[in-house]
Amino acid sequence: MNDVEIEKENAAIAKQYKKLLRVSYLTLSAKDKKLIRSAFDVAVDAHKDQRRKSGEAYIFHPIAVAKIIAQEIGMDATSIAAALLHDVVEDNPNYTLDDIQQLFGETVARIVDGLTKISSLKKDMDVSTQAENFRKMLLTLHDDVRVIIIKIADRLHNMKTMEAMRPDKQVKIASETLYIYAPLAHRIGLYNIKTELEDLGLKYTEPEVYNDIFTKIKESKEEQDAYIKEISKILKSSLNKEDIDYEIKGRPKSIYSIRHKMVKQGVTFEEVYDKFAVRIIYKCDIENEKFLAWKIYSIVTDHFRPNPIRLRDWISSPKSTGYEALHITVMGPKGRWVEVQIRSERMNEIAEKGYAAHYKYKEGKTKKDDTLDDWIDKLQEALENPDTNAVDFVEEFKLNLYSKEIFVFTPKGDLKSLPKGATPLDFAFSIHTEVGMRTRGAKVNGKLVPLSHPLESGDQVDILTSDNAKPNANWLDYATTARARSKIKSSLKEETKEISIQGKEILRRKLKQLKITLNEKSINELVNFFKLKTSLDLFYRVGISTIDNKMLKDYAASRSNIFISFIKNRIRKPSSSPGIDKEEITSKYDMLVFGKEEEHLDYKLSNCCNPIPGDSVFGFVTINDGIKIHKKNCPNALSLQSNYAYRILLAKWIDSTQQEFTAIIQITGIDNLGLVSEVTKVISGNMHVNIKSLNFETDHGLFSGKITVVVKHNNLVKKLMNRIKKINGIEKVHRV
Ligand code: MN
Repeated sequence: MNDVEIEKENAAIAKQYKKLLRVSYLTLSAKDKKLIRSAFDVAVDAHKDQRRKSGEAYIFHPIAVAKIIAQEIGMDATSIAAALLHDVVEDNPNYTLDDIQQLFGETVARIVDGLTKISSLKKDMDVSTQAENFRKMLLTLHDDVRVIIIKIADRLHNMKTMEAMRPDKQVKIASETLYIYAPLAHRIGLYNIKTELEDLGLKYTEPEVYNDIFTKIKESKEEQDAYIKEISKILKSSLNKEDIDYEIKGRPKSIYSIRHKMVKQGVTFEEVYDKFAVRIIYKCDIENEKFLAWKIYSIVTDHFRPNPIRLRDWISSPKSTGYEALHITVMGPKGRWVEVQIRSERMNEIAEKGYAAHYKYKEGKTKKDDTLDDWIDKLQEALENPDTNAVDFVEEFKLNLYSKEIFVFTPKGDLKSLPKGATPLDFAFSIHTEVGMRTRGAKVNGKLVPLSHPLESGDQVDILTSDNAKPNANWLDYATTARARSKIKSSLKEETKEISIQGKEILRRKLKQLKITLNEKSINELVNFFKLKTSLDLFYRVGISTIDNKMLKDYAASRSNIFISFIKNRIRKPSSSPGIDKEEITSKYDMLVFGKEEEHLDYKLSNCCNPIPGDSVFGFVTINDGIKIHKKNCPNALSLQSNYAYRILLAKWIDSTQQEFTAIIQITGIDNLGLVSEVTKVISGNMHVNIKSLNFETDHGLFSGKITVVVKHNNLVKKLMNRIKKINGIEKVHRV
């Protein structure tokens, strides 16, 4: 670059900087401006030798990010300064975090620290690293939510300036944006930014689709404008008569959401009917907001017939993101359904700016606006649980993000918002972890319901608790929220640990009878003998009796005479090849499970490598065809894993005899007082058996009962039946 060019560039930098101050949503004081100025000076110096891939001076990037923070998101001076500094510590070793703290104080330093930590997270992604990154990123929420907001702004600017990048990198960054940043922006209430991120994401992941829709929107723009004009003309006179200060706008649907609709409903662009909405934004003081919204509603529906099932009142119950508005769908001119969104200016600002507008309006309002804080608290709690698998966590978290909300009431009439599909168990955990853990049953609108009962908006839910109740594995089928599921999972893990500790003692005793000491050597031998993975597995299995006395005796025998066991093996397995033969593997490993939690999911075997039971495999989440199973050495494995790390699921074949199953025990006997309590005592005393249901009946002195239990192994059912048989008065016990 020659002097003239450098001169020109410096002028451009200065111009951008001035613009930054001018466009700030919040009014900046002299002190604010001073802070921003010194942050700018440091950033200019730190990045002076750096250029972006496109060739432009690096400093344009932090200025642009700060501009998004100041203008689009409307954040304070501290955030603007932190945004200017967001890459300084990472990119220039001459500036340390201590320097930042000295120069700008603790808050700015903390935010920059958070941002630097996120940037230094592993960039090369193996299985689930991306999910883990996301989780770590969310953890910084604990420090300051502004870290995430600046990170989102950073990503938005990077997405806008990706042209010079390698195409494979573009796809990777774009898919990460769709996977993580857009949902996050949505949850924080930054709807405009979320839309921008989604559209840019689509532009790089599916360029043809994007361009096609983009062109079609442009072509139909004129017609749309005319349509909106027609509607405004009809409404205008009535609104003016009522002296309402308002503005009517057309709001086009984003490219991404049109695409989403086309795929979901299998329709063409032309067939997507609600490509735009009409927005009526009115001015008024806060006391009259709601009243005026319904007045406008009444005017709109005087002219256009409303669709009764498409009315959304987000004013009486705002979304948990803080969104407020009244939405109706009406039959507009030319017989087309069109959505009308009615919002006050304040509501509109909150919808567009989210976080910042919230805090601007927070004074003078109570409770309602704490939803974001509430959300961060909940998120924090779920994140701090070290036992949750990162991939599961992210998936569940995302599900919660996008699911529609329902509103239910506590017995005292307090309102709670839950994701659609939530059950009484989710409700219990949302009240308090202790309530969740002790849930025994639930009443919805005064009637007893199963814990799996899906709640509906308006339900009043009463949780029945008992000190003896505790989570069991079935609860994972009933709970849908990340919060409840992670609590249940860690409680179940705790129980496994307890059983293992008991199992170890039982094993020590039993081995003693066989004249073997329990020590590292014998534990290793046992783990190998039973083909287990860890000593914990071993103890657990002894604890729940899937490894019984006879099996331990076999082990003892194998130990005392290796030669005999060798011969036995030869007789049992006449196969000529040494090692384990394929037949045995395919019949033994007969069930495919996913993730660390070994969950059962629907899947298909892929045609490219045709995996069979026993192969080492992984799952790949396809867009239209569910989970496909590939061999780890499939020719496609590498490209799938590197390009779509976030769609990879851990998978493995297991021995299904080790899985839980349900058994029904039928008992009959002579009806006498106390028999029922005697039976329940035996069952509940058997800690490794989960009771699913109990049914007792008496008929003219005869007693009959049906017990459904969930157990890990046959032996446990047999044991339980033997104990019940011994109860006085019981005549017959058998399995159904
Ligand atoms: Mn950056």
